[in-house]
Amino acid sequence: MKQTVQMQKAQERMAPGVITRDGFLGGDRRPLGDILLADDAAVKALDLDHPAIAARMIELREAGMAGLGEFVDVAPRFEVRVDTVRGKLSCPFADPGMFPKTNVTVRNRLTGREVTYTDLHIHLILAHGFYEGKGCAFRLEPKDLAEVLEIA
Ligand SMILES: [Zn+2]
Repeated sequence: MKQTVQMQKAQERMAPGVITRDGFLGGDRRPLGDILLADDAAVKALDLDHPAIAARMIELREAGMAGLGEFVDVAPRFEVRVDTVRGKLSCPFADPGMFPKTNVTVRNRLTGREVTYTDLHIHLILAHGFYEGKGCAFRLEPKDLAEVLEIA
């Protein structure tokens, strides 16, 4: 994918210390356009699309709110905890608005696997198809999301 000026600027805002201390890319040196293209292909290979993944993340976040910061059972076999941390983050793609630092942890009781994501992750996936760089501690692998959140 051709790296546009806009994408180059977004990639600069993803560096450590600009929006978040650790940044969004980890050690991933690929141009942002290539990262987006590769994850788009990975999602298509799972027979999913970004809105379907984000919708599931939102659904589980909403269900988990009932736990008021503790794990709560969510059908059919999830435990979900929604933690709200003080502070807000902006989108590196420079969309208007700020995203609360809400951490959502979803544990799948069948497999014991869990994933943690934030409101900004949901936005990044829904609006940009961005899952963060390979090697970034906050990266969400589309395959892990599909399996742990049982998205089909
Ligand atoms: Zn955005």
